[in-house]
Amino acid sequence: MNYVSTRGQVEPVEFQDAVLMGLADDGGLIIPQSIPAVADRLGDWRSMSYSELAFEVIRLFASDIPPDDLRELINRTYGEAYFLNDHPSRGGVGKVAPVVRVGECFIQELWHGPTLAFKDVALQLLGNLFEYILARRGGRLNILGATSGDTGSAAIAGCRSRAGIDIFIMHPHGRVTPIQERQMTTVLDANVHNIAIDGSFDDSQRIMKTLAADLRFKRKYSLGAVNSVNWARVLAQIVYYFAGVFDVQTATGAETVRVCVPTGNFGDILAGWYAMRMGCPISQLILATNENNILARFFNTGRYSLGEVHHTLAPAMDIQVPSNFERYLYYRLGEDPAELRRVMQQFASTGSLCVEPEAEGTVDPRIVSDSADTGNILEAIRRAYEKYDYVIDPHTACGWSVAERVATPVAALAGEVRTAVADEPVLCLATAHPGKFPDAIRQATGKDIARHPAIDALAGLPTRCELLPNDEQAVRDFIIRTIG
Ligand SMILES: *Cc1c(COP(=O)(O)O)cnc(C)c1O
Repeated sequence: MNYVSTRGQVEPVEFQDAVLMGLADDGGLIIPQSIPAVADRLGDWRSMSYSELAFEVIRLFASDIPPDDLRELINRTYGEAYFLNDHPSRGGVGKVAPVVRVGECFIQELWHGPTLAFKDVALQLLGNLFEYILARRGGRLNILGATSGDTGSAAIAGCRSRAGIDIFIMHPHGRVTPIQERQMTTVLDANVHNIAIDGSFDDSQRIMKTLAADLRFKRKYSLGAVNSVNWARVLAQIVYYFAGVFDVQTATGAETVRVCVPTGNFGDILAGWYAMRMGCPISQLILATNENNILARFFNTGRYSLGEVHHTLAPAMDIQVPSNFERYLYYRLGEDPAELRRVMQQFASTGSLCVEPEAEGTVDPRIVSDSADTGNILEAIRRAYEKYDYVIDPHTACGWSVAERVATPVAALAGEVRTAVADEPVLCLATAHPGKFPDAIRQATGKDIARHPAIDALAGLPTRCELLPNDEQAVRDFIIRTIG
């Protein structure tokens, strides 16, 4: 499989180069040159373990890694080490993506990894991929990332103690939660460098983008990316859509399933979109946003326009411009890089862009969308707990709330939705363990019920972190000084 850029100005590269490149050198996003069709393999795939299934999916896209190596790498990624904090011996389930039934819905718990968030599924694989590629090619990689909270700890957990890698993660000083901060700064491995920037998340992100766009600096210091523009992250996430849909089909006998995804950067749901295109029996994706609803507005009107950033109870989704949307747009505009460049240029200069509706007046008949506000989030957490004795985190609650609204037969009968598939089962992706967001859970239920032993264990541990001014040069200097 070869990879090209959405903007069409990068020579095709193989998988391993695509992983190292992160953002495409022409400023676009890396995409596979074709999307494999797998409908005739689903029968075999159904009975596979998670690791076997991951191998079958990923090998289609990573054809430059010898199959035995890839199998070993995947088995290692989703083996014992994955359940570091959620091990069966400590009450965990030992599964990467188990599906549970909660009332009318199915929930896929994607938070059994080392940092208790779904990002582990992809970042544990990415860390191993980086290490594998560097071991064969020689050289080192310096990962630079910016986080508003959750990505940082999962990226650090994926790269800690990996040979050939140093990881630098910037977070806004004093503006991540104490739990998020401890999940990052208590990791003392020599190759992990936490940086607290004296500024906002946007400041950190701006510094990261400036350094990554400085191609001379990027090459000289072998800068790599772990943010969700990295193709390997999308790829790793495609796997659990197949696994989850198979589980729901087994439980219900349904032909097809709808999947509801709480969305920030459009990374997770993009993986679902690829799975659907490959032939995974998903009839429709339900895209849920919080009050940062640029995507919900787009899928309801065809107009994609900048809004204000709102700080919500689901902070990992407080995103104004979802970085992976460009990949979706590329396909939506007929895989035409010139047209994509024109539209992105228009967005850059005016802050908005439009696409023509498809058949039946919808922007995309296979994606429905709505948003959840603070009241909806608290209500969903409370109801899931009181009615089903199941605690969901505020991000999962966005999805749950939207799924109930757009997907129930009642809503369909009332003509509130354009979908005709109201009797199909819904699978809601659960993206974080509630123990990461105890304040929101307390606010919703009045109880202190969101606990996880791995999080409690962080209290009082020693930490390490470098405080730097909001200044790109200071970060450059720190990187150069650290790697010597
Ligand atoms: C990152 C994150 C999301 C959003 O995922 P995207 O890939 O950015 O859409 C949702 N929930 C949690 C808990 C997250 O950490």
